[in-house]
Formats: sequence, structure tokens, C-alpha cells
Amino acid sequence: MAVDATLPYDDQNIFAKILRGEIPNRTVYEDDFALAFHDINPQAPTHVLVIPKGAYVCWEDFSAKASDVEIAGFVRAVGKVARDLGLVAPGYRLLANTGTHSHQEVPHLHIHLFAGQPLGPMLRP
Ligand code: AMP
Repeated sequence: MAVDATLPYDDQNIFAKILRGEIPNRTVYEDDFALAFHDINPQAPTHVLVIPKGAYVCWEDFSAKASDVEIAGFVRAVGKVARDLGLVAPGYRLLANTGTHSHQEVPHLHIHLFAGQPLGPMLRP
């Protein structure tokens, strides 16, 4: 079911459990601000999720409530993951579903990083 972006943070969501180490993940990168791991159901040859360490439901929540340090740390982590994976030259796509119309499923902010082949149009007709 799609996430209602206006609801409070649910600390039982699957990415909260990953951050607490309660369920496994295939980690790509981790620092004080972010964790990056492979998506369990990849939609491209490279499909990595980057999530902030803080408890934020979505981009709206994060952009409104996170500190400048958290925002800078998270945005830099997304760039570092792409750089470290060698994706700058071939290119990549970032996507953050937010709320019902976007069909966000997990209520912890995550940036999808897609790469590894030409990705085609941004949205399917
Ligand atoms: P969204 O629809 O933007 O909320 O995307 C949620 C993403 O989380 C989907 O691409 C799922 O495949 C992915 N996902 C769900 N559970 C896990 C998990 N345990 N480990 C890695 N990725 C997951």
C-alpha cells in the first residue's frame, strides 16, 4: 500500500529494521548520515537505495525537519555512492517516491539509484 507522506514515522518499517541491524542487507556504503544497499527487487542492473540514518518518512519530512548537517551529509553520501560505483561517466538516475501518487511503499526516505544500462524515458507512457 502506498505511504501517506503526512503520517508520523513508523519505527517498525523495514528500513528502520535494516538500520537497527534486525534484518540483513547488502551494504554498498555507510557513514554517519546514510546507508546504501542493493534493492531486493532490482529494476536495473544497478539498483541501490540510499537512506538517511535519521527517522524521516519521505523527502517532504526530511527537507522540512532534518538539520543542515544531516541534509548535507545525506546528499554528499548519494553522490559518493554513485562516484564510488563508477557511475558518473555512464550516468545514472535518482528517484525519490514521496507519498500516495508516487506509490512510495516504504515509509522511510530512500533515494533509488538506477544505472548500468540506458534507462529510457523517465516515465512510462
Ligand atoms: P518505494 O516504492 O519507492 O517505496 O520503493 C521501495 C523499495 O524498497 C522497492 O524497490 C523494494 O524492492 C525495496 N525493498 C523492500 N524491502 C527491501 C529489503 N528488505 N531490502 C532491500 N530493498 C527492499
